[in-house]
Amino acid sequence: MPNEGPRRRVAVYGLGGTIAATGETGGVVPALSADQLVAAVPGLAETGIGVEAVDFRCLPSASLGFADLTDLAAEIGRRTAAGELDGAVITQGTDTIEETAYLLDLFHTAPQPIVVTGAMRGPTLAGADGPANLLTAVRTAAHPSTRGQGVLVVLADRIHAAPRVRKTHTTGLWAFDSPDTGPLGHLVEGVPRLLTRRAGERVTVAPDAVRGRPRVALATVGFGDDGVLLEGLADRVDGLVVAALGVGHVPEALVPVLDALADRVPVVLASRIGAGPGLAATYGFPGSERDLLARGLIRAGFLDPCKARLLLWALLATGADRAAITAAFAAAGGYAD
Ligand code: ASP
Repeated sequence: MPNEGPRRRVAVYGLGGTIAATGETGGVVPALSADQLVAAVPGLAETGIGVEAVDFRCLPSASLGFADLTDLAAEIGRRTAAGELDGAVITQGTDTIEETAYLLDLFHTAPQPIVVTGAMRGPTLAGADGPANLLTAVRTAAHPSTRGQGVLVVLADRIHAAPRVRKTHTTGLWAFDSPDTGPLGHLVEGVPRLLTRRAGERVTVAPDAVRGRPRVALATVGFGDDGVLLEGLADRVDGLVVAALGVGHVPEALVPVLDALADRVPVVLASRIGAGPGLAATYGFPGSERDLLARGLIRAGFLDPCKARLLLWALLATGADRAAITAAFAAAGGYAD
């Protein structure tokens, strides 16, 4: 029996990944169609949800690119605006879910939810999690309570908000977590239950305003880093995200290099830690967060380096100026007062 009211319509867009992988000798590769994924889910037909399977890409998620995501955002945007869908589900590799979900979230303004899911164990393995994840993703996308929540990530019965979710384990079924907030909710007896809702200002950019293909580098700072590898980078990139130590620190030797880069391109200061905010006004030594922000670096706040890179990409691709970039990071980073 349907338990979500009038028949709801959800499109499942297959992009590849382990959830769609087959093969043994030579390693598994994405191969299954979206139709095959949907057909393999026990109990999906009994939900009463009208599911349409769409083959969009069939790639390992490491090989998805910006054009794939802008095309997908445009397609879902067109169909939600036309009132054809109550929600959309994307199946893809888990390696980049924390990034693709966030990029889609930046583009997605319609109230219908987009739910991204995948699998940590492929269909040929005992305990494959793809069918359960796809079932819960469809139910989440179809449920009225998730309207207005932007892009969600659903795996292992947990519902995460795209700006906060991270892949925190290479192989575990519990790999996805939202370290700063916890999940928004859970699937309880197959029903999505939100315990909290997204807080703060949504930051969005118009996908049809994407003009260029900016290059945004991501540099993780390591112990004893002297910055030599970053020299001359401003000639090759349009922006840089620094995954700094702790609350936003770099070795003193890196300061002149970052200072010079920030004069030429936007440089965002994030933390490599994986949870917690970058600070703004605590430490005062050369290479501290205060020093770097005074030199014009832009604070990422609660945005992790991978998501900060995507926000900077989206802003540069839509022609945002320095003031708009700074304001967007304050909102997305959770420190706009
Ligand atoms: N191991 C990955 C996955 O979970 C492969 C990929 O991201 O495509 O699907």
